[in-house]
Amino acid sequence: MSAMTTPAIARLKADGVDVVVGTMVTAAGLTHAKTVPTRRATAFADPGLGFSPVTHVFAIDKAGIAFTEGITVVGDQRIRIDLEALRVLGDGLAWAPASFFDQDGIPVPACARGTLARIESRLEHAGLRGLVGHEIEFLLVDPEGNRLPGNLWAQYGLAGALEYEGFVRDVTAAAGAAGVEIEQFHPEYGINQFEISLAPKAPVAAADQLILTRIVISRVARKYGLRVCLSPLPFAGSVGSGAHQHFSLLRGDSPVFSGGTGTQGMTAEGESAIGGIIAGLLDAQLIFCGSIVSGLRMKPGNWAGAYACWGTENREAAVRFVRGTHGNPHGANVEVKVVDPSANPYFATAAILGLALDGIEHSAALPPETLVDPATLSDGERTAAGTVALSSDQGQEIAALDGSARLRAILGDPAVDALVAVRRYEHETYSHLDPEALTEKFRMAWSV
Ligand code: GLU
Ligand code: MG
Repeated sequence: MSAMTTPAIARLKADGVDVVVGTMVTAAGLTHAKTVPTRRATAFADPGLGFSPVTHVFAIDKAGIAFTEGITVVGDQRIRIDLEALRVLGDGLAWAPASFFDQDGIPVPACARGTLARIESRLEHAGLRGLVGHEIEFLLVDPEGNRLPGNLWAQYGLAGALEYEGFVRDVTAAAGAAGVEIEQFHPEYGINQFEISLAPKAPVAAADQLILTRIVISRVARKYGLRVCLSPLPFAGSVGSGAHQHFSLLRGDSPVFSGGTGTQGMTAEGESAIGGIIAGLLDAQLIFCGSIVSGLRMKPGNWAGAYACWGTENREAAVRFVRGTHGNPHGANVEVKVVDPSANPYFATAAILGLALDGIEHSAALPPETLVDPATLSDGERTAAGTVALSSDQGQEIAALDGSARLRAILGDPAVDALVAVRRYEHETYSHLDPEALTEKFRMAWSV
């Protein structure tokens, strides 16, 4: 295949693209990049560009590397952009997501995007198709990461949209031009906090769309002298930011979360999918919301889903079931609320869908539904319902994932080892810091 005849490359030339940037998200939730001049775009796709294997365990302090037995200074890998997913961003720039391969072209097991692709094909082999919709909560801050004035800000207030009218309009236009499907965009609860909901897509495409959206909002923010903060808790004692993931599953053309005779109209497979997620939630917490800052958000009352339970439209349950109704044309789906923006979204989706599939394959039982705010239940009532509070102790979460045969089977040892290594590095180096120091130090760690 001649490189320059591919539709992607032809489009680049026609659109005046000078530079192609390829991105990869690694275990600590960091987004890394390399760029090439447009004439090198095909080489970036195959054979790819060199990258050290230590990239997988880069730490959030911008300096550390959480070496493991398998990840050392020796070796080299290739990152390859996916030309099918390439998008033109304007101003001479195009973007594509990249995955890690070895020098012989074999996918690297610790690669998050490759791991999610493997889960997507496991679902396919099981006759299932997943759709994933991401929510992005973020704060606008100044270039140093300081708070901006917010005198007019009110929760979901119109003033927020008007204060940042140009930003909202330019993000909407730039997202549309780049092929990002925004469903809604609104001022959130916290001062200068916004939320964007994205249209559901196939799992890898959905995570790619999320990363692209982060790039789009961050580019527009810069034009306004602003920056985008993606910390789970930007300011100690204030509102947190989630990165909730919605998913649905189809068997053939039939949804598993509606049209059945089970609880809330689910099919037996739908019930087992949720059962699988609840069963693996504590083991997977490090993947969903496991950074050193994440525990500061994971408290009851924050709508972060701080209890390992499920409930229909229950915003304090880790797993919120959303029924398919006239008001919800996407159909019944499941929202995993615990995920935050410090997570690697590819690994988080891989864990969610892997646990759901595990639940289906083992006919996992659906625990009783939690119909009220779990915090209002007595300890005895929660124990009787099997509802436990999620940990806010990173050490406990590290041990849980490290020792989880279930998650190791789903993601593979190299991915789990990388996830454990980066969080262990954070824990060993920074757990002595108080919430003020932690939020300050890592406020912009996940910004792009
Ligand atoms: N900001 C909340 C969080 O940290 C979520 C609020 C909402 O439910 O939209 O997850
Ligand atoms: Mg929200």
